[in-house]
This record gives sequence, structure tokens and C-alpha cells, in this order.
Amino acid sequence: MKHWTEIDFQNWLYGLREEDRHFEECPECRAERDRLAIQRWRILAEPEVSTDFLAAQRRGIYRRMAEPMRNWVPLRWALSVTMLAVMVLGFTLTHSKKSNPTITDEQLFAELSSMDQSSEPKAIAPIHKLFEE
Ligand SMILES: [Zn+2]
Repeated sequence: MKHWTEIDFQNWLYGLREEDRHFEECPECRAERDRLAIQRWRILAEPEVSTDFLAAQRRGIYRRMAEPMRNWVPLRWALSVTMLAVMVLGFTLTHSKKSNPTITDEQLFAELSSMDQSSEPKAIAPIHKLFEE
């Protein structure tokens, strides 16, 4: 006797599989089938909504449609101005921190010529410090 699998029950729920004689013999699968059937019935059942509730809901909708909408335009402008001020402040601060060290052309050429004249690569200089006594 082979029990129904979860896939079998799913197929049965979607109408892709017929019930078979296994339910007559197996109380476990029968219980699962009944549990699933009750659950499906609960899900598919129409919710009970009273006409008074629906009428009150409709009156609420009409009442809100008649009310003028709140005007948030001044707050919107304030938010936009604040965000613009924050952006300008951030842009100004990032540019004020980038103070380039001014190096003259003579300094640059002197440094380049010293690099060019030394036979040793500049990266080796830290290694020399390891062997200094
Ligand atoms: Zn079974």
C-alpha cells in the first residue's frame, strides 16, 4: 500500500488527479484529504460582510471625496529648499578640503631630475633602512 505523496494531494486539489481506492483502506491519507478539503472550503468561502458595513464604507468614501484635499505644497517647497541647501553645503565642503599643495615648476623639475639621476629605483630606499646600523 503506497501512501499519497504531497504532490498527489496537490494534484488532487487542483483537479488533476481523481480519488482512488486507497482512501478506503488508509485512514492516514483519508484524514489528510479531509483536512485539505476543509481548508480549501474555508479559503474559498465568501466572507460574511453585512450590508450595513458596506453602506458605512460607501458613505465614508463619498464623505472623503467631498472633503478638500490637504495642501502640502509649502512643505514640499521647504523640503526641496532644504535638500538643495544640503547638496550645496556638501559640494562646498568637499571642494574646500581639496586644497592642492602648490608645487612650482622648478620644484617639479628638480624632483624629476633627481629621480632620473639616481641609479637606484626609489622603491628600494625603504629597504636600505633595514640594513642601516
Ligand atoms: Zn495512505
